[in-house]
Amino acid sequence: MNTTIKHVFVTILLGSFIQTGYSSELSIKKHYNLDKLSNNVYVIHGPNEAPSKQNKGFRNNPVLVNTSKGIVVIDPGSSVYTGEMVVKKAKEISNKAIVTVFNTHTHGDHWLGNHGIKNNFNNIVIYSHPNMKAGIDAGDGETWVKAINKQTDGMIQGTKVVGPTKIAKHGDSIKFGNITFKIYNNGKAHSDSDLMIEIVEEKVFVFGDNFRSKNLSNFMASFKGNLEALDMGLKTKAKIFVPGHGLSGGKKTVKDYQSFITKLKKEVHKHYEAGLSDFEMKPKIVETLNKHKSWTGFNANIGRLINLAYIEVENELF
Ligand SMILES: [Zn+2]
Repeated sequence: MNTTIKHVFVTILLGSFIQTGYSSELSIKKHYNLDKLSNNVYVIHGPNEAPSKQNKGFRNNPVLVNTSKGIVVIDPGSSVYTGEMVVKKAKEISNKAIVTVFNTHTHGDHWLGNHGIKNNFNNIVIYSHPNMKAGIDAGDGETWVKAINKQTDGMIQGTKVVGPTKIAKHGDSIKFGNITFKIYNNGKAHSDSDLMIEIVEEKVFVFGDNFRSKNLSNFMASFKGNLEALDMGLKTKAKIFVPGHGLSGGKKTVKDYQSFITKLKKEVHKHYEAGLSDFEMKPKIVETLNKHKSWTGFNANIGRLINLAYIEVENELF
C-alpha cells in the first residue's frame, strides 16, 4: 500500500470508528424501566438528578398512553436521543404509531425529545400552552439546546428544535378514541406556560414540574400559583400523580411537596416581617427545612428559591 492510499484508508477507518464511537456514546443506551401506572398509562421515570454528562440531560418522566387511536406521549425528554428511546419503549407497548405529543412547559429538559419522535413519525401533532409555542416560534429553543449541551458537556449534540404545532388551553378536553386528555393551567405557577393533563379514564394526573417529588428546581414563576395548581390536580378524581421529576405516587407525595412550598413561603414571610434580608434568613430557613435536605438540588437551589419567595412576599405586601 503506498503512503497516500494508506493514509486515506487509515483516515476513513479512524473516521468511521470515531463516528460510531461518538454516536453510541450520545445515544441513551442505559436501560430505564417502563413503569405501568394503570391499564393504558406508562411512565419512564428518569434519573432524579441534576443534568450531567453521565445522564445526558435525561432526568424527566416521559409518559406514554396507549389509546385506541395510537400512542400519545407527554414530555419526551431532553434530546433527540431521549425521544428515540421513547419511540423504542412505545414499541414494547404496542405497534401503533405515536400520533401526538404534549409538552408540559417550555423548559428544554421536557421537550427537546420532540426531535426523536418527529424523526420516526413525521406527521406528529405537538401540543403546548400558547406561551410556549410563541416562545419557541420566536427562537427560544436554540437557547435551551445550548444550555443543556453546556450542562452535559455536549451530550445532546445533534438535537434540533422541533417545536409545538398546536396549542392547548385550560378547560380543553382532547379525545383519542377511548381516552380523554383534560387540560389544566393556573396562569403563572411553575412557569408561565404550564399544561397539566388529567388522563381521565385512567385516573392519572400529569403535573409537569408543578409537582416535583423529592426534587427542587431553581425556578418558580409563582409560589402562590404553584400551590393552587397542586390543588387543581388533587381535586380531580385521579389516584396516581406523575411529577415532572422523581417518582409518581398517590395524594400523599403531592401533599409532601405542597407542604414544602407552603412552609418555605411562610418562613420567608415571617423573616421578612422581622426585617431580615433574603441572605440573612437563608441559614435559619435551611435549618427549619432540615428534613428536605436530602432532596435532589436542595443545596444548589434553596438560596435562589428563598430569593424568589422574598420577591413574591414583597410584591404581595405592596
Ligand atoms: Zn421546569
